[in-house]
Amino acid sequence: MARDDGDPRVEQVRLPAPGPGELRVRIRAAGLCHSDLSMVNGTMPVPFPLVLGHEAAGVVAGTGPGTTLPVGTQVVLNWAPACRACWFCRHDEPWLCAANTAPAVRRGVTAEGEPLHVTLGLGALAEEVVIPQAAAVPVPAGLPAESAALLGCAVLTGSGAVRNTARVAPGESVAVLGLGGVGLSVITAARAAGATPILAVDVAEAKRDLALAAGATDFLRSDDTLSRQVRERTGGRGVDHAFECVGRSTTIRAAWRLTRRGGAVTVVGMGGKDDLLTLSALDVFHSARTLRSSVYGSSDPDREVPVLARAVAEGTLDLSPLISGTIGLDEAPAALRRLARGEGARWVVTFPG
Ligand SMILES: [Zn+2]
Ligand SMILES: [Zn+2]
Repeated sequence: MARDDGDPRVEQVRLPAPGPGELRVRIRAAGLCHSDLSMVNGTMPVPFPLVLGHEAAGVVAGTGPGTTLPVGTQVVLNWAPACRACWFCRHDEPWLCAANTAPAVRRGVTAEGEPLHVTLGLGALAEEVVIPQAAAVPVPAGLPAESAALLGCAVLTGSGAVRNTARVAPGESVAVLGLGGVGLSVITAARAAGATPILAVDVAEAKRDLALAAGATDFLRSDDTLSRQVRERTGGRGVDHAFECVGRSTTIRAAWRLTRRGGAVTVVGMGGKDDLLTLSALDVFHSARTLRSSVYGSSDPDREVPVLARAVAEGTLDLSPLISGTIGLDEAPAALRRLARGEGARWVVTFPG
């Protein structure tokens, strides 16, 4: 839970009983995502007090009137449930659903009775959540909770950026900038798509082994020579696809520069509103590059989370390189500080079943 002092902590809160169309879900595992940090440090303006967490899996423990998922169903939480009625939903872009624009919604109260907010309608770094049934995607019961949790944000975002947004084809070259949970997930998906080479880029040498385990062909330290290092490996042209998984104008510019003429830069990281990106008008025209963002992997979680869950169950999608370790909820504040320092990939909070 976060308050406006930038110092997350564990606190008791009170949630309402599930109302019509709502479920109570007992969380089994919840990942710590960079967006949680963005809310703590003010990059993304949010109301406080706020329960953090939006990448989680759990089990239905209570049901409100009008729901259809029975108690005991294992579910992955979806932080952008589609209304299926707005213009975007009707035009097959549910990840842009007009009903999902708030970073936090009012739900429950603190132990002192103060109004509480939950991240992206979930607030999943908690033992239990009360959420709309539309935010719960059922998955097979046998799926390990840590893996299931990651499907809800890092994996869906990374695999969707590759498959849906950029549509990477076999033999195309890829660079991935920023090797947190999402960046590593982009690498895994690029590997599965048949991309080569897959150049993993980070400022931290410590990410080398993680990148290679996730499927990168090369690890490149990000420094002044980055464009040259990339061109040496891509026939002097630059990559077909660059994925920016940091959310900073400097990294977007770096991604732009190491992409070939006519190539595509996909921005997956969420940046701040005051961080301005400058490109020359001549460069935009002459480079013929495409710059676009990938929100939630341009995906429909209701359709794609079950597909990813099946791949994990069948062993064709190995998420172990993404998981730095499992921790208790009391260790989450320290793990968020490690995440801020760029250490490790995904720390996953697990709760005793
Ligand atoms: Zn996330
Ligand atoms: Zn909608």
